[in-house]
Amino acid sequence: AKGIDWAAVRADFPLLRREVHGKPLVYLDSANTGQKPACVIEATDDFYRRHNANVSRAVHALGSEATEAYEGARGKLARFLGVRGDDLVLCSGTTFALNLVAYSWALPRLQAGDAILLTRMEHHANIVPWQLVAQRTGATIKVAELLPDGSLDLDGLYAAMTPEVKLLGIAHVSNVLGTVNPVATICREARRRGIVSVVDGSQAAPHMPVDIAAIGCDFYAVTGHKMCGPTGTGALWARREHLEAMPPFLGGGEMIKEVRFDGTVFNDPPHKFEAGTPNIAGFVGLGAGVDYLSALGMEAIAARERALLAHATEELLKIDGLRLYGRAKDKAAVISFAIDGTHSHDLATLLDLEGVAVRSGQHCAHPLLQWLGVGTTCRASLAFYNTHEEVDAFVAALRKVKRLLA
Ligand code: PMP
Repeated sequence: AKGIDWAAVRADFPLLRREVHGKPLVYLDSANTGQKPACVIEATDDFYRRHNANVSRAVHALGSEATEAYEGARGKLARFLGVRGDDLVLCSGTTFALNLVAYSWALPRLQAGDAILLTRMEHHANIVPWQLVAQRTGATIKVAELLPDGSLDLDGLYAAMTPEVKLLGIAHVSNVLGTVNPVATICREARRRGIVSVVDGSQAAPHMPVDIAAIGCDFYAVTGHKMCGPTGTGALWARREHLEAMPPFLGGGEMIKEVRFDGTVFNDPPHKFEAGTPNIAGFVGLGAGVDYLSALGMEAIAARERALLAHATEELLKIDGLRLYGRAKDKAAVISFAIDGTHSHDLATLLDLEGVAVRSGQHCAHPLLQWLGVGTTCRASLAFYNTHEEVDAFVAALRKVKRLLA
């Protein structure tokens, strides 16, 4: 795509130069966490070396530099997602973001007789918080099922949007099947029926252009560590009316305007939801990370990953007894598979000895694995910094490992 030197891009990632077990590393676990370009590592390092101070408190020079850096990162992330920084709550990741919606939006509103609609392909982070809310409010959980190719059964989903459903929780992209859900259409249908939509964008924002305003959801969650950023960074975008109406989730410093023993005045959103000292250096790194992604261009990244996915899929399907899970037409570069007569943990363990890092297990999506009818899968997940040669090395290693296990 548009003349990007992908070998030079890859060289920006220091970790990808290392070896494991004496073999060149082939890192195919980016859906779990992404690797970091040097600019992100340097931005974090530079913050600690030259600017470290707490935010929004001190009048001294470092205090304002730190605040500027932190708020600057909010602005970068907001631009990256097509939203206003004032509507973006910075937090530790998608898990925190979804729990914030559960505790501050859903818990005070839902009651017995209400329902929460989820899809079969949700990550536990978009299931368990809703179960905790359901237990405390008497609401019930409904599940929208999938078609055999791993895409959502849209007719079934819309039919499940009955009057008692107050909230829809939906992944933009599945972390197991790679399925890209048509969230703009789905959120429009939810909105028409008065259902609040919560989109888990963990696996979308790192891999494709995301325009939250165009999606038209009520809430959108992202996690920084899959977007070239440090761990412990992420954000929740919410419609302003929700941010204004929601009570705080955690109390403490930073989230207040005035505290008296007879009553406290909360800060304005998004600060109302950011109690305590945030992961300042982490967000400085994430700011550099989204700048890096933007400079490459998310369209170019998506095209690169589509090409890698097509190549990997073609080569994997040549292996006898290999089954791919997730064949949706619109699919991100996440490849779950099993090989007949082998266990996925054995495959992953032996692949590791060949230098190939894949994940095996249930991928924090037990209900989806139950639907697939397999205990576990292996998952190879690609990013733009992977190469066609790495895909070939992975497939060759897989053939070798399969022979060992047969
Ligand atoms: N949802 C999905 C779809 C994910 O892939 C992940 C990360 N594995 C999460 C939620 C949770 O993200 P985090 O652990 O960064 O909070």
